[in-house]
Amino acid sequence: MHEHDSIFEQIVDRGHERLCFHHDNETGLKAIVAIHSTALGNALGGTRRWYYESEEDAIFDVLRLSKGMTYKAAVSGLPMGGAKSVILLPHRDQPRTEAEARAMGRFVDTFGGAYIAAEDVGVNIQFIDWMAMETDHVMGGEKVSTGGDPSPWTALGTYHGMRASLLHAGRGEDFSGITVAIQGVGHVGQNLCRLLKDAGANLIVADINKANVDLAVEQFDCRVVHTDEILKTECDILAPCALGNVIDGTTVEHLRCSILCGASNNILGDPEEDAVALKTAGIMYAPDFVVNAGGLIHLAGLHLGMTTEQLQQKNDEIFDTTVRILEDGENTSSTYAAAVSLAKQRIAGGETQCHAS
Ligand code: NAD
Repeated sequence: MHEHDSIFEQIVDRGHERLCFHHDNETGLKAIVAIHSTALGNALGGTRRWYYESEEDAIFDVLRLSKGMTYKAAVSGLPMGGAKSVILLPHRDQPRTEAEARAMGRFVDTFGGAYIAAEDVGVNIQFIDWMAMETDHVMGGEKVSTGGDPSPWTALGTYHGMRASLLHAGRGEDFSGITVAIQGVGHVGQNLCRLLKDAGANLIVADINKANVDLAVEQFDCRVVHTDEILKTECDILAPCALGNVIDGTTVEHLRCSILCGASNNILGDPEEDAVALKTAGIMYAPDFVVNAGGLIHLAGLHLGMTTEQLQQKNDEIFDTTVRILEDGENTSSTYAAAVSLAKQRIAGGETQCHAS
């Protein structure tokens, strides 16, 4: 499957239910919502604001991300489906406005709750609260909607995934003496730095944003490498926490880590093939949609009415799920295949482990 296939070919191939395009005459907003699956329930997924070089790129992105959300929700044992939305910005640095957010909120409202929006790249708490002025079906705001910034929860889940990976590698769960290289120290990356520093890890970071690098160095005493170097840096754990598509068949051979475990969505260019290449290279891959589910668990859990204790427990389960998938990955082609298989089993069986009252 390729981004140049027809739209229907892409939808059929990935198994999507709906792909909806919207243009708001008043503001000029152009947005797409992709609902991959509602088999397990309504679908919560972030809204990404991004300047895409072409409409094809935007469609490719929203289809890929929404399918990932189906797997993420299912593997986490949430009674939720998978969806995502993108706003196609007319310029790279288009400022966020209330009018744009409210237009997006009205679009989201047309799904009547089948799609629930939240933060993704380019969308902040304020934007969510503006959207929430037009729809009840949005999570992650602070004043109009609830849930707040999910990134601390995403970082915590990724940290659990790293602990599970170390344990599976026979290295205990102790981070002292462990070096973690983090690509991207934004919302998730900074929180991850804090958890790892407190646990005694050595940190190496890179970011194209100097202010974020300076913040990480100041707070967590990180070593800094150039953004071109971070993926090739010698470390125990490599954690991509910037954007997706950073590792593929040609870059695997340059990696100098023993564990790959990061928060970015779609770390691998072609997950099926690249995860096999990682296994062949002796690199343990903790699948992204398993370990970065903490933010989804937090917002979806709140939406479902879970208590603080239930939310905590569900986030902690990322540790057990990662261990299980790393074990299953030994008897199948890759850990990615093992994770997809578990997600599909849960979808087919309608099986979730929701502790909501
Ligand atoms: P963010 O925008 O706050 O941070 C991303 C950071 O990466 C920024 O500091 C940016 O400057 C940096 N960056 C961008 N390109 C880079 C490059 N080429 N090299 C180095 N650094 C680069 O985003 P975030 O909320 O921290 O999310 C990080 C990743 O995790 C994203 O891929 C996101 O989709 C994924 N994710 C986030 C959450 C969440 O709760 N925020 C949940 C699941 C997945």
